[in-house]
Amino acid sequence: MLGFLAWSPPVAADPPVTESSRAATRPLAGRLIVLDPGHQLGNSNPKFAKQMSQTMFNGSIVKGCNTSGTATNAGYPESTFNWRVAKRLKTLLEDAGARVEMTRTTNSYDDWGPCVWDRAGVANRLGADAMISIHGDGAGSSSKGFFAIAPVRINGWTDDVVAVDRRLAKAMIAGMIAAGAVPANYVSGQLLLSRDTTSLNLSNVPTTTIELGNMRNAQDARRMSSASGQEQYARWLLAGLERFFR
Ligand SMILES: [Zn+2]
Repeated sequence: MLGFLAWSPPVAADPPVTESSRAATRPLAGRLIVLDPGHQLGNSNPKFAKQMSQTMFNGSIVKGCNTSGTATNAGYPESTFNWRVAKRLKTLLEDAGARVEMTRTTNSYDDWGPCVWDRAGVANRLGADAMISIHGDGAGSSSKGFFAIAPVRINGWTDDVVAVDRRLAKAMIAGMIAAGAVPANYVSGQLLLSRDTTSLNLSNVPTTTIELGNMRNAQDARRMSSASGQEQYARWLLAGLERFFR
């Protein structure tokens, strides 16, 4: 039951919301972004060996359904890192006005996949404005920092998106570096062109894969394993996407 209405002092009216102030606070309004946290914890579960053994031609080579990904030397799994950054980024993107869909909704040893071709299918079906595949690398211990992967031209497969994918990758690189992300010291210009990445070859919307750090490098591994580091990666990815849509 409502006993009484508390008196509250008059407050100053909010300043009028103008188009430019709306754009400043919700710069991604109207954008549909698919986040693809790479791998899945259960991909390494032997009970899913049959699902993992599925293959498909990707325009270049025959590739498997998915893999279990890498890990830090202490055993922190890439799939969990990818998942946590994606979840955090989803919130940041929604705060910036975007609609966000994920290619997987769990990170569990009791789940597998989805296969990489189905991840591209999610973005295609939705007609997303962009898809970002989030990964961590497993390179030599002195390699560190982030880089982007974009497809090469394969007629009938990537010719429709190769230019916009390149533009997305470059916007991510520039936006992330401007926001303070550590550029890879082992990939020239932080851009790797790939002929064999299934999600890039099958996607019909602007797509890039970002390898956020090297889990086998002590410095990167520390950042990638901590909640505050994951928050930082999410903010760097947000800066890249804002650059792309600016
Ligand atoms: Zn990966």
